[in-house]
Amino acid sequence: MRRAKKTSGRAERAPSEIRRVRAPLLRWYDANRRDLPWRRTNDPYAIWISEAMLQQTRVETVIPYWKRFLEAFPDISSLARAELDDVYTVWTGLGYYSRARNLKHAAETLVAEHDGRLPDTAEELLKLKGIGPYTAGAVASIAFDREAPLVDGNVIRVFARWIGIREDSATRTVVEQMWAIAAELVKGSRPGDLNQALMELGATLCTPRNPQCPICPLQRRCDANAQGDAESLPVKEKKAKPTRLRAIAASIERGGKILAVRRPETGLMAGLWTLPGGPIGVAEEAKDRIGTVLAETVGLEIRDVKAIGRVEHLFTHRRLELEVFRCRVDKGARVRRCGFVAHRWLAARAILDLAHAGPTRKALSLLGVTDETSARTARRTNT
Ligand code: SF4
Repeated sequence: MRRAKKTSGRAERAPSEIRRVRAPLLRWYDANRRDLPWRRTNDPYAIWISEAMLQQTRVETVIPYWKRFLEAFPDISSLARAELDDVYTVWTGLGYYSRARNLKHAAETLVAEHDGRLPDTAEELLKLKGIGPYTAGAVASIAFDREAPLVDGNVIRVFARWIGIREDSATRTVVEQMWAIAAELVKGSRPGDLNQALMELGATLCTPRNPQCPICPLQRRCDANAQGDAESLPVKEKKAKPTRLRAIAASIERGGKILAVRRPETGLMAGLWTLPGGPIGVAEEAKDRIGTVLAETVGLEIRDVKAIGRVEHLFTHRRLELEVFRCRVDKGARVRRCGFVAHRWLAARAILDLAHAGPTRKALSLLGVTDETSARTARRTNT
């Protein structure tokens, strides 16, 4: 496999050349499309929910969540009326909870300003919270048959290879070029199917490794197939190293329960339940800081402190190193929160049934609490 060579000029295709692949793409899609539940409905709301869930999550994972979500909130007005905690509960395990929060917020806007319906153009959809250019294009084209383009990771890969774009796919000029190609390609009949065909091709044939070029509908016109460098595309320049963050968290035990705290609605892990704790300096000893951090953030004096271990979690631009402790407080100890918006004393496994952050799941795992031990039994026992 040849490595991708950077070229000085960007690869271009004439609009007529771009549109020529519409027919083979649609024919391939008709014959090969996966039977996914959201492809059996015309309900714009159901399609919107699927697109929100699919943004960061694999299809197989999304299917049961999508079904449960629509059972719990079958339409925009039921989602708008719901308690955010109930939306989080149905979302639990899917991660990236800001998506659930934004869906609820957008549903409230739709009820208040759009008669409880989704607008049918990408421009109007873009005004809703949580809907970016990709989702706007997907919903407008799939649900409303609009000639609205979309570009996601799969589409970028297909375009880079088919057109032969050998520049960093994250640069503004290349991203703009991708959107221009998508806008040209979507013009014509069946825009929703065309967009889905592109994404399907990227998900099933034009995969990052081992693309299935011999059975690809674009094979005869594909630059990377001709050059033999498909696996090197798209070009991704090395990203800057994520910033290192250090923090401590503790399983604080009181009368057989542990303390869970909820983070504020802004910032890292917004609105999610975690173990109490807080950040520490890069050079600080976690064991020297645990008592002070917990006194400052939940107002508790701890005893029987034991270091359990460390977990790491990668956010988009930050790498969190979390030192995990176990400790106790006296039976009558009262919580005085500072920096958290709620707290509960719970059976440890019940935290996994709340909307929780990735690092919390890892910390609980260190403490021997996993999904297998979790029963959906969160019970508020004291506040
Ligand atoms: S021919 Fe190969 S590299 Fe080109 S678009 Fe198809 S699967 Fe991708």
